[in-house]
Amino acid sequence: MSPARVNCPTCQRELAWDTAPFRPFCSERCRLMDLGAWLSEQHAIPGEAAPRQEGSAPPEQSPKDCT
Ligand SMILES: [Zn+2]
Repeated sequence: MSPARVNCPTCQRELAWDTAPFRPFCSERCRLMDLGAWLSEQHAIPGEAAPRQEGSAPPEQSPKDCT
C-alpha cells in the first residue's frame, strides 16, 4: 500500500503519489535539487581524508656533514 499523498522532500509541498511523475518529488526541478544537494554533500567532505603524516621525513634532505 502506498500513501495517497506524500510531501515533496525538497519543497515540502503535498502531492498525490499516484499522479506524481517525479515522486517522491513534486517536480523534476525538485528532484534535481535534491540530487544536487546530495552530490554536494558527498563532495563537501571535511579535510579529514588526508591526515597529516606525522613521523615521516621532510621532503627536503639536509646535506650530511662529513667533513
Ligand atoms: Zn517540490
